[in-house]
Amino acid sequence: MSEKKVFDYLIVGSGLAGSVLAFELDQRRKRVLLIGNKQNHSSVIAAGLFNPITGKVLSKTWQAEEIFSQLQRFYSHAEREMGQKFFYPMPIYRPFLSVEEQNEWMGKSASPDWAIFIEKIYTKSGGWYGVKDLLGGLLLKQTGFLNTNVFMEAIRNYFVEKQQFQEHTLAYDKLSITTNSIVYGEYQSEKIIFCEGTNTFQNPYFNWLPIRPLKGETLTVQSNLPENVIVNRGIYAVPLEKGIFKLGATYETKDLSQAITIKGLEELKEKFKEIISLPYNVVNQEWGFRPTTPDRRPIIGEHPEYNNVIVCNGLGTKGVSLAPFVSNLLAEFLVKGIRLSTYDAVDVSRYYSLYWKAVNKR
Ligand SMILES: Cc1cc2nc3c(=O)[nH]c(=O)nc-3n(C[C@H](O)[C@H](O)[C@H](O)COP(=O)(O)OP(=O)(O)OC[C@H]3O[C@@H](n4cnc5c(N)ncnc54)[C@H](O)[C@@H]3O)c2cc1C
Repeated sequence: MSEKKVFDYLIVGSGLAGSVLAFELDQRRKRVLLIGNKQNHSSVIAAGLFNPITGKVLSKTWQAEEIFSQLQRFYSHAEREMGQKFFYPMPIYRPFLSVEEQNEWMGKSASPDWAIFIEKIYTKSGGWYGVKDLLGGLLLKQTGFLNTNVFMEAIRNYFVEKQQFQEHTLAYDKLSITTNSIVYGEYQSEKIIFCEGTNTFQNPYFNWLPIRPLKGETLTVQSNLPENVIVNRGIYAVPLEKGIFKLGATYETKDLSQAITIKGLEELKEKFKEIISLPYNVVNQEWGFRPTTPDRRPIIGEHPEYNNVIVCNGLGTKGVSLAPFVSNLLAEFLVKGIRLSTYDAVDVSRYYSLYWKAVNKR
């Protein structure tokens, strides 16, 4: 029998979840093999925004303080290690639509809970070129964007150089899993970690998970918008490079066609017009599926029957901010056996009943 190449972990999927987790484990001196392909890549489409205050009624993200300080640390460290720029801390500006809204935010900014994320409140136009904000707006901090494609390419190159990356679609029927080892072709490892995004429905070990695709479309446009701020009100404009912006995104649960749509294009154009008065040219339109969960929390942890088969998924609409957070939780658990206090809230065990239901039906 030929000798196996031995790793601590095989990681399947090199989107944000797999890339961040692979680097996190690598930094803890674990030997990982990252297996990835370029199909159905939500992370490639993502505008990469991170923002602790989101939603229609603007609420603070769950565990925002921890998540946002963690992501700053993680991506800054990764930039230094890779010698590449992909992390762009930058304020987000949200124009007000009413005086009531102005007042509400003046009130909120007095509370220390909110103040840590508020840079400034404008009660009249902030003077951002081309932005419709007669009533002023809210300037947020601890915000910005990750250039996801540059980041994932950097991670890929990092592991290629170490001969720890395989461009490959893992074939589940070629995987041999026993209680103490994982064997896949010439590779052997202690554990396997699946980070497959919405493709998880094809995985016989985790196809019972309630990961639902939430389709989104984005536009890439040329325009003269401000490049030192991200304008965000119903639509965001992320300054990807000089004169080039990513606009997004739509949220579609019904039409799950794997294609861009006229409806998506019109919706984004309409929303852009509401907050920006500048001309622009559309240079690209893209679509992707966000891997969402019913309780909007990520899913990490062990398979109900095999404790060496692990999942890291369900990053939903917030992959950039959640990936470092869940990777740290998972790495602490895998490497040190420690369940940090927030682990239980994202533990896959909350869905084990779905697994047993599926098993009993067979
Ligand atoms: C339009 C849009 C805009 C978004 N904007 C933002 C944003 O601004 N900020 C933000 O934080 N998030 C955003 N998101 C959400 C973000 O993209 C996701 O949360 C995140 O990318 C999910 O990452 P993932 O690695 O779990 O999944 P994916 O990116 O889907 O990666 C999974 C990877 O695993 C691979 N894979 C699956 N099965 C196998 C197999 N058998 N073998 C090998 N590889 C396999 C897939 O091909 C894929 O490459 C957006 C999403 C969309 C669609």
